[in-house]
Amino acid sequence: MKKNIVFPGDRLASAEELLPGEGTYANGEHICAAIFGEFETDQKKRCASIKPFTVLPTRIKEGDEVIVRAREVSPERAFLKIICKVEEPERSIPHETDAVLHISQISNQYTTDVTKEYHPNDIIRAKVISDPPSLHLSTKGKEFGVIKAYCTRCRRPLKKRNNTLYCDECKRPEMRKMASDYGEGRLTSK
Ligand SMILES: [Zn+2]
Repeated sequence: MKKNIVFPGDRLASAEELLPGEGTYANGEHICAAIFGEFETDQKKRCASIKPFTVLPTRIKEGDEVIVRAREVSPERAFLKIICKVEEPERSIPHETDAVLHISQISNQYTTDVTKEYHPNDIIRAKVISDPPSLHLSTKGKEFGVIKAYCTRCRRPLKKRNNTLYCDECKRPEMRKMASDYGEGRLTSK
């Protein structure tokens, strides 16, 4: 059987079809991948889940590059869930690993409001700038920022158009602090 490898943020199924299980989350009418791994469905329980490649957990430390999902965004900061290290996507991260991105760490340009740069469920590449237990992140630099984002209105994946993101369905642009390789489907920046 062919392995179905999925990328964080990938759409797996509609929420009417299946229930969100281990390694997944509900995003509106869809179930999306929360981690990098192999997509499986349990037809009996009508449940979607993702099996990580290894259960051997890894530790996050200052200087690591990580892939995160925005959980909650306020004008001053974003709260994020760490999905994996850029260099070791196959290793799992302890479930409780949350991180904070402060307004001063969004970009090299002056940021007035974090909610104009990131939205919940955005998949972001970031750098860890403090050691645990309180993990602080930065997205300064062109290789950091959103690598996958969804329309805030219809939740379809946004496409890159010149220097902005665009929803083909709603025919309108959305702003984000983007990584230069947005939409290329890579975890690493190079
Ligand atoms: Zn849309």
